[in-house]
Amino acid sequence: MEIKNLIYDGRVDLQDLLANAGLEDSPSLLIQVFASTRETGLLLHIRETVAQVFPSAVLVGATCVGEILDGRVQERGVLFSLCHFENATLRVEAAECRDSFLLGAQLGAHFQQPPPRALVSFACALEVDGAAYLRGLESQCPGVLVAGGLAGDLLQHESGHVFTRDFLSSRGAVAVGLYGEDLQVLNRYSLDWVPLGKELRITRAEGNRVYTIEDIPAADLYGHYLGRESTELLPILGVHFPLIKCYQGISVAHACVSKNEDGSLDFMGEMETGAYVRFGIGDSSTLLASAARHCQELADWRPEGIFVYSCLARKMLMQSLADREVSHLHAVAPVAGFYTSGEFYSLESGNRFFNYTLTLLALREGQDQGAPKPVPKVEIQVNPVFKALTHLVNVTARELETLAGTDLLTGLRNRRSMQDQLYKILESCRRYEHPLALIMFDVDHFKRINDCHGHHMGDRALREVARVTLGEIRCTDVLGRWGGEEFLLLCPDTDRTGALELAERIRWGVERARCEALQHTTVSLGVTVYRPGDTVDDLLRRVDEALYLSKKAGRNLVSCA
Ligand code: GH3
Ligand code: MG
Ligand code: MG
Repeated sequence: MEIKNLIYDGRVDLQDLLANAGLEDSPSLLIQVFASTRETGLLLHIRETVAQVFPSAVLVGATCVGEILDGRVQERGVLFSLCHFENATLRVEAAECRDSFLLGAQLGAHFQQPPPRALVSFACALEVDGAAYLRGLESQCPGVLVAGGLAGDLLQHESGHVFTRDFLSSRGAVAVGLYGEDLQVLNRYSLDWVPLGKELRITRAEGNRVYTIEDIPAADLYGHYLGRESTELLPILGVHFPLIKCYQGISVAHACVSKNEDGSLDFMGEMETGAYVRFGIGDSSTLLASAARHCQELADWRPEGIFVYSCLARKMLMQSLADREVSHLHAVAPVAGFYTSGEFYSLESGNRFFNYTLTLLALREGQDQGAPKPVPKVEIQVNPVFKALTHLVNVTARELETLAGTDLLTGLRNRRSMQDQLYKILESCRRYEHPLALIMFDVDHFKRINDCHGHHMGDRALREVARVTLGEIRCTDVLGRWGGEEFLLLCPDTDRTGALELAERIRWGVERARCEALQHTTVSLGVTVYRPGDTVDDLLRRVDEALYLSKKAGRNLVSCA
């Protein structure tokens, strides 16, 4: 495998530039073109010239806002990355379709049998929804590693162009399959944006549009947390403060890309009502440190070439340091790529549409031989001020969160915190189809304790009920004081039988408690379990009904609804 990168800036003849590259025309020659241009005339010229000089080669290209090559970054040029494979074979496909999932499925259908080692794909920003597109691809060729990203300039609302030798589109996608018995591929990514501050719940979203977060219009929420002036600076400021979602341990950052009249904001990627997000923040030293880590790992793997598809938000953050993020990589192997409006990546669990990430596809033909290429060891310290500042914000947020969510009398979670927990737990039960049970209970004739023994004894009784209950539950159960002398218990991974048994243990635990405050004291309990389609309100209404049944039937009982 051999890679040569050429820059075309219009000053030399393109035909001469390509012809003098020193690479033979062949069907195993992959030519990736990344062009910072809006001129389709230039793209046509590129396609024609490539067809003349390399009639058998495979061409895939994308317009972008920055090219990455040989350890440096450049803008306003055209990068021709010529990659000649010894044994690997290539297949290129292109399509246009209004529906992004169908677009992915249409392209993916060409790569079913045999599956390629990797797919390198580019699609147009704005017109193609990256997440749906990747799902479409996966529906046809599951398990195939996908690399690449969205063309164009999302921040300027430009969808860009993607092209092959006989296809040019500002709405479609192109993909090249890399095949070969001895072709080895390795992909890596890093996000590096750090979650900051408290968790926020998206209370209304549709597709890519977020209307409200914590019931506040999304733009106002940015104003609240980032300062009122910040709403004037959206979406550009929003690029520096993406919203980060975490599912199954994978953090995904979503860039705010536009602000609407009604205060809603549009983001990259899909945003769901009910999802929890945090603001994220990046810093150039963190980005550089993780690039250095990749280098060490890749050096051991000994690639012959590295394709880099890196988010344009990184370039924006790094500014003049952008070169440094990719310069270390060049010490490992020839590097080529571009700054994307969203990255395509494959994890073992499936394809992911990322934002803000640096994604790498390392390639090698044949088994590696010999010692790893010596690369200079670069150790980059994360800026200690940045580290300390994010730590400060996060510790403060956590402390305030705990304070605001704690019931001072019992030390349990309060109603607000329980409501939050219920939203979260319900969301994950839905997602993973796990059972969930709720138990609500209320002290019987509590007024009598207050009336006969004083308020002080009443308070003690509440603390004792909490203590008894904590002794009966699992560490994954969540107990809180719902109000007055009423408690709520959330039991993830618990079915009806398990919840009824637990409720009975709590009932019995309080009844037989020996302490002074709980003498002759009992509780009535209600139990309900999650049914598909239930909302938080449905669950709360049913568990309250169940509790009421126990009260009506004589107290010191467990009922189910
Ligand atoms: P029932 O069996 O129907 O539940 O009767 P009850 O007397 O327990 O219910 P009711 O709702 O009539 O009375 C609840 C009482 O709990 C009234 C209120 O003053 C008392 N209470 C609420 N919060 C606290 C608290 O923090 N400390 C104390 N000591 N009492 C409280
Ligand atoms: Mg009561
Ligand atoms: Mg009550």
